[in-house]
Amino acid sequence: MRILFVEDDISFANALLISLRARGYEVKHIANGAGALAQFASGRFDVVVLDLGLSDMDGIEVLKEIRKKDNTPILVLSARIGEVSKVEALDLGADDYVTKPFGFGEFLARLRAAHRRGSPGPANQVLRVGEFTIDLAKKQITSSSVAPPKLTPTEWSLMEVLALENNRIISREEILRRVWGEAFMNEYDYLRVYISQLRRKIELNPADPKYLLTEPGIGYRLVADSP
Ligand code: CA
Repeated sequence: MRILFVEDDISFANALLISLRARGYEVKHIANGAGALAQFASGRFDVVVLDLGLSDMDGIEVLKEIRKKDNTPILVLSARIGEVSKVEALDLGADDYVTKPFGFGEFLARLRAAHRRGSPGPANQVLRVGEFTIDLAKKQITSSSVAPPKLTPTEWSLMEVLALENNRIISREEILRRVWGEAFMNEYDYLRVYISQLRRKIELNPADPKYLLTEPGIGYRLVADSP
């Protein structure tokens, strides 16, 4: 995996570089936004790890420029407490974010998920979520061990949005827009109701979800594998 790592905090960057290289990752570290864009334009990277607080420009601007060019997965590093910048980053096409300070294990897991997202499987998406195999094209849920649930059309739309972006956080506004339309973008309660309905159908213990996860104040994430 070739990583473009954009971070202006040099001691933090060096610590992460050592750990990543020790695990065999090929990492190009760049300390500012302009340099990162130049590097991105001239190289091929599997994942971009992007700090939002850069010295020369806002990381969000780097994100926007990269998204004008292609869909290389972007994992955002943010020390920002406010959730608005995270939602903004996700809505602008970031694949995920990690808030500083973070554990290296969590960071690696997010990095691998972002990388998987960048190398998608065949077009007719089939996903594995816990006991279930979900076929998006056929709108079908099957299971070899338990009775598969029946989803309503709206639940299917919701499942589809979550599954197409699997392992990526999607903001509540984005889900509402894609499932119900622009006019519903602030209907958080509405979404919450549908999320809990879906959890009752796909989670073993809906009160302690393992697959359809809440990212507090931001949105939701479906944890899924390829079968
Ligand atoms: Ca920084």
